[in-house]
Amino acid sequence: MAKGELWAARRLGAAAGVEDHRFFSMPELREIGDIGPLERLSGLPSTYIPMKNSIYYNVAAAFAEEVGASRVAGGHNREDRAVFEDTSDEFFRNLQRTLRSGSARLREQDFRIWRPLRAMSKAEVVALASRLGVPLEDTWSCHRAGSVHCWECDGCLGRERAFREAGVVDPLRASGDRKGLKRVRAG
Ligand SMILES: [Zn+2]
Repeated sequence: MAKGELWAARRLGAAAGVEDHRFFSMPELREIGDIGPLERLSGLPSTYIPMKNSIYYNVAAAFAEEVGASRVAGGHNREDRAVFEDTSDEFFRNLQRTLRSGSARLREQDFRIWRPLRAMSKAEVVALASRLGVPLEDTWSCHRAGSVHCWECDGCLGRERAFREAGVVDPLRASGDRKGLKRVRAG
């Protein structure tokens, strides 16, 4: 995970009052763009990590079983579903069923995978976040490893488009990212 992404996750977790914010390190999992040219996986976005959601949600379910949580939440939106097969309704329906079948505790907890943004476009997500007062200056969209947004990669371009369509001023773009850079460096 990029330094800036980790910083943003910590900031947002603190703002949301997360009590036990746990980070799992999976250095062997890489985006196919970082693995190298793979003919077998051609046609998939360079940011795709093979079987990513299958792996991530299993880890999250393990955490849920440990702490007795009844929900695992994911922020996938409608546009993700058009690109990534492992964000489909069918995938999550089957995964939830599989996870529940493997744990009496998860069944007792009425364990569910919750995807509140699944029917929304990226622009609708930005508009909702703006209405709710989410600290948008603490969010992260860049796929590159720097401590500021590059404003060139798919993540950055998608962010720009979503804010423009939503009619919301991006505080990161407005500040030229300089404020963010200082804060990332400070810790
Ligand atoms: Zn970028």
